[in-house]
Amino acid sequence: MKYDYLIVGSGLYGAVFAYEMKKRGKKCLVIDKRKHIGGNIYCEDVDGIHVHKYGAHIFHTSNKKVWDYINQFAEFNNYINSPIAKYKDELYNLPFNMNTFSKMWGISTPKEAQEMIKNQIADLNITEPKNLEEQALSLVGKDVYEKLIKGYTEKQWGRDCKELPSFIIKRLPLRFTYDNNYFNDRYQGIPIGGYTKIIEKMLEGTPVELGISYKEFLAKNGKIFDKVLYTGMIDEYYDYKLGVLEYRSVRFEEERIEEENYQGNAVVNYTEREVPYTRVIEHKHFEFGTQPFTIISREYSSEWKKGDEPYYPINNEKNNALYEEYKALAEQENDVIFGGRLGNYKYYDMDKVIEAALNKVDEIGA
Ligand code: UDP
Repeated sequence: MKYDYLIVGSGLYGAVFAYEMKKRGKKCLVIDKRKHIGGNIYCEDVDGIHVHKYGAHIFHTSNKKVWDYINQFAEFNNYINSPIAKYKDELYNLPFNMNTFSKMWGISTPKEAQEMIKNQIADLNITEPKNLEEQALSLVGKDVYEKLIKGYTEKQWGRDCKELPSFIIKRLPLRFTYDNNYFNDRYQGIPIGGYTKIIEKMLEGTPVELGISYKEFLAKNGKIFDKVLYTGMIDEYYDYKLGVLEYRSVRFEEERIEEENYQGNAVVNYTEREVPYTRVIEHKHFEFGTQPFTIISREYSSEWKKGDEPYYPINNEKNNALYEEYKALAEQENDVIFGGRLGNYKYYDMDKVIEAALNKVDEIGA
């Protein structure tokens, strides 16, 4: 065998795995069907602005081990994510905090905010939230739900909030302090130099073949490796034989604008249903850029179909049950490991991807 591992996919999971395996003396080859490395954290340098080509990525974690790990590959800046939500002509701070509530209701104390929420949901009698709508209502009340959550979520997921799992909304902090930090995590930032550099460093010394799919590689080379780490879609690996898992895809409309500061913030969410995009990213603000021009991306969310890029697994009961069936097949494989957002069908953040990859390497015990 020419290689110990064929690593399919050069995203964060694949790159961490490659780095760790190389360190352990294993011979790896990384392939990617795209023409570049990095998967969805890939950034393109456009005249000094790192454009997040597959959506904004803000690194955040509470896991010191993961933070120290990623800091081997880059220094991080002190960016703190504080998105703005735009509902019609009203602007609100996110995540849901005293600034949001004060603007929404003209109140100023945590007690008043909690009273408002309590009154707004008193007649709903939600004891155990069964879906995203109930979860959101019970946390923040009707006004915030209707203005800042319902429209955005239905655009983002293409489904009614009653059909979505509640955990999606629990990703966002809710706090009764005047704190606009979108994350509760201890560590946060954007890598100075961009994400692609991190992946380049992780893959240093490991051969990479781009623009080739797993199937094409096999057809061309045969099985010249001992084992496979597969970070593509698990259902695709099995030719969808048990059924098709659902994903959301995203289309980015990128525009260069000859002005210094377009929207005054890296992330502006458009929470009303009628605006067709979910959010507008102004990339330079992730790195406090001072260029005389700017680049923005409007995000349009759509249902994934074969041939599209998958971004978000839709972890509702139906899909999770189907994934469990694929996982059972995967567990019978001796030579194939599945990893990453697509291989594990999980709405992983970057820190969780690193954690999962490191755990996998430990588990293999190479
Ligand atoms: N969300 C919302 N309104 C917002 C921002 C987020 O209702 O203005 C909900 C929405 O359902 C979204 C979820 O919170 O899918 C998670 O948001 P997050 O920002 O974590 O999503 P990501 O950045 O991963 O797309």
